[in-house]
Amino acid sequence: MRRKIKISFLVFFVILGLSLALLLAYIQADARFIMPVKNASRNDYSQKSMGSPRVGHKHQGSDIFAKKGTPVLSATRGIVIYNGILKLGGKVVLVLGPDFKMYYFAHLDTIMTTKLHMVEVGEQIGEVGNTGNAKSTPAHLHFSIRNFFPYKQGSYEDPVPFLNKASRR
Ligand SMILES: [Zn+2]
Repeated sequence: MRRKIKISFLVFFVILGLSLALLLAYIQADARFIMPVKNASRNDYSQKSMGSPRVGHKHQGSDIFAKKGTPVLSATRGIVIYNGILKLGGKVVLVLGPDFKMYYFAHLDTIMTTKLHMVEVGEQIGEVGNTGNAKSTPAHLHFSIRNFFPYKQGSYEDPVPFLNKASRR
């Protein structure tokens, strides 16, 4: 009896491991990256907004300005690991990408995806807005890229090179 339980545990973990490996392989099979705001160009974001001072913290990302309601597209294929409302970010979506980085989309007017959903690159996940601490600024997408390993304050990277590469010019 005890032995049977041990074996079923083993089978469970093997299946879990295989499923995770398959999932990661699937995500990594399409590692394209795109501009997360529909039709945005280099004029819609600053070349240096990463690290600029904000009240109580430094700015950890890029602000891409667009009309309220403009589609926000997933910059990468991945899994939605969080969607909901945060104090600073307002309505936000967090996607784990093929490169084990987290892609953060904030100040959305509406969220158009669900938790644990597998998003395709370019899939609409929301609309540009000014929720959270962007209430008194023009509508924009706050876009951050954060490394999972090591996960600590300061593990954000500057999204500008990413955006410049993805930009339609
Ligand atoms: Zn911002």
